[in-house]
Amino acid sequence: MADHKWVYTFQEVEEAEKHVGGAWKDVRSLLGGKGANLAEMTRIGIPVPPGFTVTTEACNAYIAAGNKFPEGMWDQELAAMKTTEELTGKKFGDPEKPLLVSCRSGAVKSMPGMMDTVLNIGLNDETAKGMVALTGDERFVYDAYRRLVQMFGSVVLGIDDEAFEDVLDEYKKDKGVDMDTDLKADDWKKLTLEFQKIVKKEKGFDFPQDPYEQLRLATEAVFASWNGKRAVDYRNAAGIPHDLGTAVNVVTMVFGNMEEASGTGVAFTRNPSTGEDKLWGEYLLNAQGEDVVAGIRNADDISKLKEELPEVYKQFQEITEKLENHYREMQDVEFTIELGKLWMLQTRDGKRTAKAAVKIAVDMVAEGLINKEEAVMRVEPSQVDTLLHPQFDHQAKQEAEKSGKLIAKGVNASPGAAVGRVYFDADTAEERSKKGGQDVIMVRPFTKPDDVHGMLASKGILTSEGGATSHAAVVARQFGIPCVVGASELQINMQERSLEVSGKKVKEGDYLSVDGTTGEVFLGEIHSVAPSLEEQTELMELLSWADEISATKDIRSAPKGWPTRGLMVWANADYPEDARRARSYGAQGIGLCRTEHMFFEPERLPIVQKMILADTVEERQTALDKLLPYQRSDFDGLFEAMTGLPVIIRLIDPPLHEFMPDEHELLEEVITNRIEGKEDKEKEALLASVQGLHESNPMMGLRGVRLSVVMPEIVSMQVRAIFEAAADVKLRGFEPHPEVMIPLTGHINELHFIQPKLEEIAKQVMGEKGVEFAYKFGTMIEIPRAGLTADEIAEVAEFFSFGTNDLTQFTFGYSRDDAERNFLVKYVEDGILPRNPFQTIDTHGVGQLMDLTVKKGRGTRVNLEVGICGEHGGDPESIDWCYKIGLNYVSCSPFRVPVARLAAAQSALNNRE
Ligand code: PEP
Ligand code: MG
Repeated sequence: MADHKWVYTFQEVEEAEKHVGGAWKDVRSLLGGKGANLAEMTRIGIPVPPGFTVTTEACNAYIAAGNKFPEGMWDQELAAMKTTEELTGKKFGDPEKPLLVSCRSGAVKSMPGMMDTVLNIGLNDETAKGMVALTGDERFVYDAYRRLVQMFGSVVLGIDDEAFEDVLDEYKKDKGVDMDTDLKADDWKKLTLEFQKIVKKEKGFDFPQDPYEQLRLATEAVFASWNGKRAVDYRNAAGIPHDLGTAVNVVTMVFGNMEEASGTGVAFTRNPSTGEDKLWGEYLLNAQGEDVVAGIRNADDISKLKEELPEVYKQFQEITEKLENHYREMQDVEFTIELGKLWMLQTRDGKRTAKAAVKIAVDMVAEGLINKEEAVMRVEPSQVDTLLHPQFDHQAKQEAEKSGKLIAKGVNASPGAAVGRVYFDADTAEERSKKGGQDVIMVRPFTKPDDVHGMLASKGILTSEGGATSHAAVVARQFGIPCVVGASELQINMQERSLEVSGKKVKEGDYLSVDGTTGEVFLGEIHSVAPSLEEQTELMELLSWADEISATKDIRSAPKGWPTRGLMVWANADYPEDARRARSYGAQGIGLCRTEHMFFEPERLPIVQKMILADTVEERQTALDKLLPYQRSDFDGLFEAMTGLPVIIRLIDPPLHEFMPDEHELLEEVITNRIEGKEDKEKEALLASVQGLHESNPMMGLRGVRLSVVMPEIVSMQVRAIFEAAADVKLRGFEPHPEVMIPLTGHINELHFIQPKLEEIAKQVMGEKGVEFAYKFGTMIEIPRAGLTADEIAEVAEFFSFGTNDLTQFTFGYSRDDAERNFLVKYVEDGILPRNPFQTIDTHGVGQLMDLTVKKGRGTRVNLEVGICGEHGGDPESIDWCYKIGLNYVSCSPFRVPVARLAAAQSALNNRE
């Protein structure tokens, strides 16, 4: 262990590469994102203050040993300190030429819930005096020293930061000043002493004067912060594994808070909200890094630096361009200017809104920086989802504005429309959302890492302070929560739990509407609308690349006869209008038309009920004859809209009682009538019939193919309607591809019974109409037995479609109507199930059954078409499973088609051999 390398200086990136075997992602795992990039920037000649990184391996070893540094680590840290001294010409703890460093955590994935930075390590009573002699700036030195005591106290020693802030506020009040900048050298000197007293009082020991002791404790604090509550909560929410560990970065201090030509800032190489290819950021002259992030003073737009420090701005532009070209990705950088010299303190891939993610990916392809495949991999399916999320209805917003409901405007930090009730702290926000089922808008002056649980539970976030790079903004963007920050007109009163703005008061529990796209805040609830995909040209382009990737021949290796292109995306659509939307969203077929939905329309329902209640076959046929034209025109529109593409029409599925009046309500009416001495024979007969249809387990009762066996007349009418419509459409010059789907099959004999009868009708209609077209008869796989006997089923069925809603219900034995309400949410919360199997396919169970079904089915019918039309068809993780087991397509709601197209292409790329 002693000869294991635990510490790498920023010059040693090559050693780190050698240690991990060369891959950059492994260097990042070893040094953390921040450390790896500091070393990489050093390698490519970008000015980075000298320093070193203690590895994540050291952190994990420290935790595994019960909070003990691994052997050799501290000595290596001391040696790296020596190298840093040589590179800077300064000495740690030496009053003559004191070296000061910062100490920061740096995990492989950026985690706002982790330990913050401690600046100015190395300052003590002696080196402070040395610094004064050196800089001649006593005010600057004691401001730096009190910052160290404060940060060290709060971050390393765990003292509540308010203890320090309260003393500072009190001090300023006594002095009659508002701003920190109004305080003089002597004030900071006094405050440093006061802060040291706080440490002594809270911890029982003195603020450590030994710089190496400061460094050692700070290193330990970073390691320990990995398992702090905030960090663990954050990792749980973001799905980051708990065993990665964090690195510790020790970096020479450079000062942006010198009087002359000094400053500090943060910037993105492109606009992280819109994706526009233009430097975007903020800076402050004469300030330290945290001043910008905390929004203590209003920062200037980065473009102003061009006027204030033109040389520095020019160099900064060159550096950011170099970084973007080097990483081939939009960067988020931190920098400090010390006496006119520019230093880069951090670079990382910038977080961005969904809109910006798409634009940047598409632009970078045009610029030749990345290829189409990379672009497709750079956008998360959930981001596409965000882009299709509701926005406020323009007119409703204008009306709200006219009636004086626009109460504030802040920074549009994370796009989307959010409406909800206002709560002023994270715990209440979380509680009202999770337990109370309310839509919540969390309102705070600003947010901190321990607010994240409340933010995640909120529909929207609103702050009165902070800017586009504040904590609230960064976290909201990452999780796609609409957010407005820095709405400074809002007067938030935490005691009263209310906010006031120009005479209007909003109390806890009142409604607000927050527009994260524009930064506007409205009183009350505003109506929102779904955005149009057609207007989002960059997204359309990206999705067309996704389709190209999915359509690549042989991208999937598969047995003979199986699909070797990627997944197609079809849609579930019942009406021509849905089909048109699905097609415009890029669907390549209709995977499910639930015909029974049409039965519920007001003019049709009475006929359907007559049909169900008929005593004789003739009576039933009369009702069905009336329904036939309706169904025919439904299907006609669908085939026309989808001309040239397959349309799967499912025959009637639900239990018949669903079409009848509610049994309990009928009973009540009949009883009331009887009590009032009125007799209503018709109602009583209806009640008797409805009672006759009653089943104890309707989901397992007379539905699906069973209905066709018991009452073949209904499906006969439907098949006639399907083929008459297809023939008419064909005669009008369109190209119908009907596929008739029989639901809920469990036994091959069910198909043997019904399918030939239906095929006969198909042939008959084509004969009558004098046209021919290709068609298929197939079945849904929703009953486990159908999957287990798929080899037999495929002898008759020409295609399969997984109805994973029912298949999940019957494989788990969980009622799809009641499970979530009764126990499933608890199951997921308690970790009994990793996730809700009605949302994401349970690959270990249901998924295995699907896999077996596909193999058995294609064992009989080698090029059997297999798809999925349950809700899982629009879920990216489930889509990946469907890809792996060899499905031809996934079918989902039209609104999820764009998400599915991207997810399907990503599956093709991720699984390519
Ligand atoms: C299914 O069961 O997955 C399915 C698509 O059918 P329905 O939801 O209509 O039962
Ligand atoms: Mg079903």
